[in-house]
Amino acid sequence: MKDLRSLTIEELQEEMKALGQPAFRAVQIFDWLHGKKVSGPDAMRNLPLSLRETLRQSYDCTYLRMELRLISKEDGTRKYVFELQDGNVIESVLMKYDYGNTVCISSQVGCRMGCRFCASTLDGLARDLLPGEMLEQIYRIEEDLGEKVSHIVVMGTGEPLDNLENLLRFLDLITHPKGKNLSERNITVSTCGLVPQIRKLAQEKRQITLALSLHAARDELRQSMMPVAHRYSVAETVAACDEYFSLTGRRMSYEYSLVKGVNDGDSDAEDLSALLKGKNCHVNLIPVNPIRERDYQTPDREHAVRFQKILEKNGINATIRRKMGADIESACGQLRRRFKTQE
Ligand code: SAH
Repeated sequence: MKDLRSLTIEELQEEMKALGQPAFRAVQIFDWLHGKKVSGPDAMRNLPLSLRETLRQSYDCTYLRMELRLISKEDGTRKYVFELQDGNVIESVLMKYDYGNTVCISSQVGCRMGCRFCASTLDGLARDLLPGEMLEQIYRIEEDLGEKVSHIVVMGTGEPLDNLENLLRFLDLITHPKGKNLSERNITVSTCGLVPQIRKLAQEKRQITLALSLHAARDELRQSMMPVAHRYSVAETVAACDEYFSLTGRRMSYEYSLVKGVNDGDSDAEDLSALLKGKNCHVNLIPVNPIRERDYQTPDREHAVRFQKILEKNGINATIRRKMGADIESACGQLRRRFKTQE
């Protein structure tokens, strides 16, 4: 069955036509789902009872149930575990920044990219998330918080470009004037570097920010950290990012997780500088969050600053990501895993 919350207004109009309903019903339904953010057809009070009944029987309607919420006493960061209708669980995070409330959403249940430092990929991929399931993470967090969310990062569990079609539809829905009406400029999508999909996204000429998880400037080193690096070389990957910038005018963001003794040496910083020299980009340094199942360690603060200084000396804009919600469960995917193994 089709998921009502994943359909555009035009698609809802098609559905209404097929049901012999007037077209304005589509706008009403869209408003209930994305304006008022109700849980399903039963709440759509301005629809005839018979139509509500048909919608209930012939369509799915994504709605996430909050299973767990942790609130950081240090900085107000909130971590959520949501249950999907099929019983799978996903995690999302709310971060309070000066410029607004930011939600980090998951794009898949699990992940099949296999990055060595990441907890989300340990059990592989269960399934893709529907557009409605990506939206719902934001809707339920806004409801819980009682405040608006202004920025979205697609940096939670999953590889968004491995679920590109649903991601694009999610972008269409979240930016729709009759829905949340968010600007694409307030959305960042992070990828481990699926080159053909980066090129495809570039062709879409959207105004979202693309973040590439680079983590190493040399092929061999990157391959030891991320299996995807066996498929696409660093040079091809960065060339695709250059194309993204030239087609969209959006400055690239490069993520670099610092792992002690693996990719955090002075020569690594020089390699990274040489790779990105002269590009209009920003480097986000993320001291790695160690996960129980792997042996990667995080470098100390001074070492991260030293790495940053080398980049800056070479004219590369770089910041060290501030750790948020350190007092609640840490690295990506860990909360969901803990939740799953408790059951
Ligand atoms: N699949 C996408 C988005 C999800 S991961 C991607 O790879 O970009 C989001 C970011 O968190 C990536 O940069 C990823 O490399 C990083 N990350 C994952 N696990 C981490 C950990 N344990 N410590 C620090 N960064 C981590």
